[in-house]
Amino acid sequence: MLHYTVAIIGAGPAGYFAAQALHNLQNEERTFAIDMIERLPTPWGLVRSGVAPDHPKIKTVSKVFEKIAADRNFRLFANIEIGSEITIAQLQEKYDAVIIATGSSLGKKLGILGEDLYGSMSAADFVPWYNAHPDFADVDVPFDCDTAVVIGAGNVAMDVARMLALEPTELDPTDTADHAIAAFKNSAVRDVYISARRGPEHVAFTSPELRELPKLEHTNVLIHKGDIEAAIIRSGDSPEKEVKSNLDAMLLIADAEKTHHARTMRFLFAHTPKEIIGGDRVEGVVYSTPNGEITIKCGLVITAIGYQAQGIDGVQYENGKVVNTDGRVKENMYVVGWAKRGPTGVIGTNKSDSAAVMELLVEDLKSPKNAGDISGLLTHQVVVSQERWQKINEAEVAAGQVKGKPRVKSIKHRELLKLAGL
Ligand code: NAP
Repeated sequence: MLHYTVAIIGAGPAGYFAAQALHNLQNEERTFAIDMIERLPTPWGLVRSGVAPDHPKIKTVSKVFEKIAADRNFRLFANIEIGSEITIAQLQEKYDAVIIATGSSLGKKLGILGEDLYGSMSAADFVPWYNAHPDFADVDVPFDCDTAVVIGAGNVAMDVARMLALEPTELDPTDTADHAIAAFKNSAVRDVYISARRGPEHVAFTSPELRELPKLEHTNVLIHKGDIEAAIIRSGDSPEKEVKSNLDAMLLIADAEKTHHARTMRFLFAHTPKEIIGGDRVEGVVYSTPNGEITIKCGLVITAIGYQAQGIDGVQYENGKVVNTDGRVKENMYVVGWAKRGPTGVIGTNKSDSAAVMELLVEDLKSPKNAGDISGLLTHQVVVSQERWQKINEAEVAAGQVKGKPRVKSIKHRELLKLAGL
């Protein structure tokens, strides 16, 4: 029997699914001891700090993660950053394989004038802010304006626009950060634009997300019917299934009876952002459109146009991803998830993707190194183990029960460590 040790860096969906795949690849000949290393004091990655809080069903995948973590060959080392103090090369020396599962956390930039004005920010800052990510607690979102613009036509843009446009009391029974619920309740924003640079047939939304918009009880959702009709004509007789499904969903919205709520979400198509204008702060977005230049006045702009991976020292990156071939990076190093393939796909996409990379990892295995593990590299670091994380988890869920929420997330790093008993 051969006993291998594997380090997974990053406790998000791709990392957990890699651990699950390795568990499934154990047999009479080999076993895997898995150490999952996470920079934050809490695991679950995007399931905790990315998924929209009004989509609690998507978060139930965390139960799968906890089942994977319950395996006796699995250990969590949270609150440990890999980079300068503990290097990836040190992990490579100790472990039989090292898997990078650190996702893509940096928002892509438009690269247009005015993008750095106060009031212009990336979804990569706004989303973790409302999801109580400790690094984003102090993000300043100016809500003292009546109009916000969201740039991008993917599901992140949709999440952001929905969070801005819904009636904030709808967030009371969710795990949205308390500070964000308070800010949304004080917000003056009533009009939210979501802008796509191409036509409705090219949007990156998925149809379930479009189909839930008419269910917003306190928000008018407006799509110009002519835009969809023109897109249907352009798409021809046999559009791709996803395109047809999206166009059907958008036509339903365009056809819906008008509502007269205080809050409105409007879709703009064929609007390419040219400049964000303003003096001290954002005052509007200038678009080029088929009908010429159009300016939408607003005080808040959130770009949701994709992500790129944050680098780890000792790893080569290109186009926002780790340089890799089918997940192989270099000698005993692998990559999974968004850090491997870029920011595409839903959470479940990572299951098959991680499993395919783990097959290659097993193919490459030699004799076990028996060279120790991360414990030998820890000097002053404070580790949140699986048991300690469970204490945080239980405390957050208990705090949520009192308030009718799934959990109340602690926003401060030191509060999290206190809940962990540290
Ligand atoms: P995405 O799906 O790739 O969408 C990015 C959008 O940004 C596209 O509409 C793209 O338009 C636009 N864009 C890119 N560069 C632009 C520019 N310079 N100017 C204007 N627009 C620009 O990315 P995402 O929304 O970040 O989502 C990432 C992944 O997470 C996706 O697979 C998504 O489905 C998934 N996700 C799923 C859920 C869910 O299931 N509920 C929720 C959130 C995210 P072009 O097509 O014209 O380039």
